Amino acid sequence: MNQYDLVIKDARLVDPERSDIFCSSIGIKDGFIAEIGEDIHEGERNISAEGCFVCPGFIDTHMHDEDPYDPDTTQKALLRQGVTTGIAGNCGSGPLLEKIAPSRSTPWINIGYLTGHRSLREEVGIPEEQRYRPAREDEISRMRALLLSELKKGSFGLSLGLEYAPNTSWEEIVALSELVPSFPCRWVSSHIRYDGPRCIEGVEEMVSLSEVTGARVQLSHLGSMTAFGRSAEALDILHKAVSRGIDLTWDSYPYAAFCTFLGSAVFDPGFEERFKKPIHALEIGSGSNAGKRMDGELFEKLRKEEPETLIIAHVMNEEEMRLVQKDPRCAIASDAILLKGGGHPRAAGAFPRGILWLREEGLSWNEAISHATSIPAGMTWLERGYLKPGTPADLVVFDPLTFMDRATFEKPLLPPEGIGYVIVNGQVAVEEGKVNEKPAGQFLTRI
Ligand SMILES: [Zn+2]
Repeated sequence: MNQYDLVIKDARLVDPERSDIFCSSIGIKDGFIAEIGEDIHEGERNISAEGCFVCPGFIDTHMHDEDPYDPDTTQKALLRQGVTTGIAGNCGSGPLLEKIAPSRSTPWINIGYLTGHRSLREEVGIPEEQRYRPAREDEISRMRALLLSELKKGSFGLSLGLEYAPNTSWEEIVALSELVPSFPCRWVSSHIRYDGPRCIEGVEEMVSLSEVTGARVQLSHLGSMTAFGRSAEALDILHKAVSRGIDLTWDSYPYAAFCTFLGSAVFDPGFEERFKKPIHALEIGSGSNAGKRMDGELFEKLRKEEPETLIIAHVMNEEEMRLVQKDPRCAIASDAILLKGGGHPRAAGAFPRGILWLREEGLSWNEAISHATSIPAGMTWLERGYLKPGTPADLVVFDPLTFMDRATFEKPLLPPEGIGYVIVNGQVAVEEGKVNEKPAGQFLTRI
């Protein structure tokens, strides 16, 4: 019997914790990296990676596959771009664990969920239509009880979507967030209260939230909130807070357009002034008008009749999105959102595109890859994202000469080029760009 189930031979290993790229082979047994070395013999299966780079699987700390999004399409799109682990349920929309369909116990990637503030509100009787009202004291204490029970069941933490529920009180977010740090390795992710000119207030609110509650706070898709002339200032505030010992992390995606529902508070009156862009900057991302640019009449009609329509808003400054992405603490994260086959190309291209942006900004391969692996692993206390014997064998084999995202706003699901294999828990999950028939991911919980 062979010593290893799978051997990846003659690879050039990009270890995010080293500064060089070195030739070696990887022996995999029972789903874990068993050995890294030059003299590894044949395994049950052998993959020659000659000419290719091999790095840890990408960790996406901010994606969505909860209701109403398409879980299978989203997970497969992420997998094809090299994502092997994802944290879903961000921006306040994470489900309660008992409500996750059993089919999700065999996901395509390793996946864990945050408990969404919006779901907690719905459970205690504050439906989406009442999103503009603060919760009452009795509702807050019922939400606390629910969140506690979710954290005990293995939720990764709490997610807030404050821009979507803009009158949520400070007392409400403190009362919930303060429960999180008493459970090990949990955090609060937050889509902050304001984008555009007021984003600095939103950033400062999260600094205070972490300071007051002791919870780690992750600022979600930071560039999409600040890249309206405020990114440098926001990063400066965050770094100063971190140097004072406040536990803050942040992520961003490499596109100058964001994506969300037309009916959300983001598009309440005044958004054109906030973004300093005309209504034409909005592109319809799903439904029968997908691909069209918005005008005033269509806006009124769709917002009233089809508020679930996805909108792609081409409103951020690209140089600022790049500035945020190359920040040494910023993780690449997809914020993948797909609905009925439509959506933003970040679901299928964010990671190769983010890594190439970082290469264009002068980072080495090791440094660029760290923003997709060891940095998000550190943010989430995951024992994945490293090339180390004893860790789960989540790996990406890619050709550095052809590695590139191809997804576009017209064709958001186009898989990237140059990715030969994606290995999830020691199983070949993607082979020559094609997803294997059997899901190899694990449903992750925190205990
Ligand atoms: Zn968000």
